[in-house]
Amino acid sequence: MTYPVVEIYIDRIRYNAGCLVDFCSKNGIEVMGISKGACAMAPVVKAMLQAGIKKLGDSRLQNIISMRQNGINCPIYLIRIPMLSEIDNVVRWADGSLNSEIDVIKALSQESMIQGKKHRVILMVDVGDLREGVMPEDVLNVAGMILELPGVEFEGLGTNLGCFGGVLPSFENTKILAELAGDIEKRYGIKVQTLSGGNTATLTLLEKGKLAPGINQFRIGEAILLGTDATNFRRVPGTLQDTMILKTEVIEVKIKPSYPRGEIGRDAFGNTPTHVDKGPMKRAIVALGKQDCRIEGLVPVDENIEILGGSSDHLLVDVTKSVNNIKVGSIIEFRMSYGAMLSLMTSKYVEKKIV
Ligand SMILES: *Cc1c(COP(=O)(O)O)cnc(C)c1O
Repeated sequence: MTYPVVEIYIDRIRYNAGCLVDFCSKNGIEVMGISKGACAMAPVVKAMLQAGIKKLGDSRLQNIISMRQNGINCPIYLIRIPMLSEIDNVVRWADGSLNSEIDVIKALSQESMIQGKKHRVILMVDVGDLREGVMPEDVLNVAGMILELPGVEFEGLGTNLGCFGGVLPSFENTKILAELAGDIEKRYGIKVQTLSGGNTATLTLLEKGKLAPGINQFRIGEAILLGTDATNFRRVPGTLQDTMILKTEVIEVKIKPSYPRGEIGRDAFGNTPTHVDKGPMKRAIVALGKQDCRIEGLVPVDENIEILGGSSDHLLVDVTKSVNNIKVGSIIEFRMSYGAMLSLMTSKYVEKKIV
């Protein structure tokens, strides 16, 4: 066994995907499974498909290519608005993409003509979170322009909430999407197929019956991969947690003071550390650092262990109160937030193991 390792409980991820497909489909909503949190690892993506997910989305073209190379041939969407420099590969590897710039959509259309394809476009609308999307007042016009492009199919509208601005999904902001779709249908005499109303954070609206009618797709990553919803700071009802556990190895254990000796400047990351003098403590160092992981997102499984902080390659924990006899070579386990998962899954220094 090599450490650090993220153990991935694939049955629990499959269970979560199935649970969300059930819940959403009962409400007329299709789940696009978002794979970026697991760097589109093939076993994870296949578990989503086994659970009944029919469409996938990822923010990175490299991940989409790797899924294709692993034989995954269901519809896959690029969910980060494309770079102009990657258009040929977006058309080659993805069936559709989320978009907000007409110049990019024109380039997608042109490239699709060259490749003999019809790329599907979901137009993103900014309903308040201030990340990607055209402003609501511009949607009707932009939709009209997309409808004139021969290489792309205007599939529908999408929105993203609870990410950059932390704006919570609501009846009001999801309704903007549904109303705009109605306007487009009236003006252009078409049927808007897809209204992609949000991500994990939007599940609460469905649970409370406060989702605007007409929304028929959610793009879900976190609730499947971790069973959590960071934006609403909760566990997602019906799902399992402990889908992924980080195991790290202890490389030093010593009783040391809790207050450093000497004049305090900045730490390796330019921050000025603060310390509380709690007297002598049993301190352990595990071989994992900020280069591998967003350590603020880790929570020790042993409730009597407390994270003190870390540097690029070292994570320090207070093990004074732990009833486990922690010594050099011991393994300390952590649960992880979405942010910690993203970084751990991306780090080549962290082993991944399917359990
Ligand atoms: C990451 C992402 C999602 C999935 O969000 P979760 O919170 O993991 O469900 C959905 N849509 C877009 C555009 C994303 O970037």
